[in-house]
Amino acid sequence: MTSAAHIVVVGTGQAGITAAEALRAGGFEGEITLIGDEPHAPYHRPPLSKAWLAGEVQAAQLTMRLPEVLAKKGIALRTGVRVESIDRAAQSLRLSDGQALRYTGLVLATGAVARRLPLPGAQAPNVLALRTRDDAEAIAARLAACREAGRPLVVIGGGFIGLEVAATARKLGVAVTVLEAAPRLLMRALVPALSDWFAALHRAHGVELVLDAAVESIECDAAGLAQAVSLRDGRRFACGAVVLGVGVQADDVLACAAGLACDRGVIVDEHGRTSDPLIVAAGDCTARRLADGSLLRLESVQAATEGAKAAAASLLGQARPFTAAPWFWSDQFGHKLQMAGLSSGADTSVTRGDPAAGPFSLWHFRDGVLVAVDTIDSSKDHLLARKLLDARVSPTPGQLADPAFEAASLLAPH
Ligand code: FAD
Repeated sequence: MTSAAHIVVVGTGQAGITAAEALRAGGFEGEITLIGDEPHAPYHRPPLSKAWLAGEVQAAQLTMRLPEVLAKKGIALRTGVRVESIDRAAQSLRLSDGQALRYTGLVLATGAVARRLPLPGAQAPNVLALRTRDDAEAIAARLAACREAGRPLVVIGGGFIGLEVAATARKLGVAVTVLEAAPRLLMRALVPALSDWFAALHRAHGVELVLDAAVESIECDAAGLAQAVSLRDGRRFACGAVVLGVGVQADDVLACAAGLACDRGVIVDEHGRTSDPLIVAAGDCTARRLADGSLLRLESVQAATEGAKAAAASLLGQARPFTAAPWFWSDQFGHKLQMAGLSSGADTSVTRGDPAAGPFSLWHFRDGVLVAVDTIDSSKDHLLARKLLDARVSPTPGQLADPAFEAASLLAPH
């Protein structure tokens, strides 16, 4: 591309920032505009349900990049402005401030939006979902009010965000009930043994956990504030606030309206390429087409970072495919879960370490091949697992069942 080129990155989250910086690092000399509709400078989302919500880190520590740091790299940051539409024929964007912006390359990094529930009472001001910094500030204020008034928090949804908020609320001294529709926690992400481990952890810290919970309605008082959550079986849980942790939807609105191929996410390949050669996409807004034709949606810092590097490389005519094993982490009650690979479809699991007393890991196999490793408080095993999965080197279940076996030996140089 020539120096007259202009790449626009839509979305100032993890994927947007990474793509903009990777374009510069990859040798792009044209103009880069990073544009996002949130009013804040780019910030980290993971602490919003953990250390920030617990009051353990300051707001300044949420900042991912200061505008002046981006400016030094020649990246123009525009916050508080929404891209309303893409005119692909004219290679032009229409912005919420009325301006039009031309592009020679476009990165879509529009993320995801938190799901709401179509329930009576779900629109009450003390019923909140957690996606943005503004959401987190509203939840922090509601938690403080709950603590002061001695009112419980009800969390609807026992996924990662719901459970992290539950753990943080307990830390802050708020009584918590978690209502989960499935028969176990974290069902989409974890094998039953780990779901049970998390259930025991939460119960040990005083969380009231209700599984198979069919939420029917949220009862509000005369002022319109949620006061209780009712289940179909008649049970009723009083609350001072409700947090909805019922998942996210990829934000592919802009891409779909522009006629890009989408299926619950902007469809990309491992290079971040969309159905338009001038447009790439990365992060939570995407659904990646795999070799077997299926679509993979990942919502993680790693997927946003690696997907964005792949997408930036594509726009520069370089190849840096995102093929690494997925990884993710979650912090709850002082324990760190780290996941490498995908355990869905595993037929055998081997436990190493002692789940009752200390660090442990679960090694998952499909047809005798290692597909995923979940670790609790063992970053060493997590990093080793990522190396093994990326190198496609698999120990056998039998080897791992021997506590003396060192899986790292499989990676040792020959
Ligand atoms: P986002 O960060 O969602 O950024 C997209 C941005 O684009 C948003 O600011 C959005 O407003 C903006 N946008 C959308 N449309 C437009 C438009 N038309 N015009 C302008 N701007 C637009 N992941 C982990 O791996 N580990 C964790 O422990 C973890 N914890 C998390 C805790 C919380 C509370 C949350 C919310 C997420 C957590 N995640 C975690 C997930 C991780 O943060 C996300 O997967 C990652 O941040 C996604 O980055 P992204 O850039 O794709 O999307």
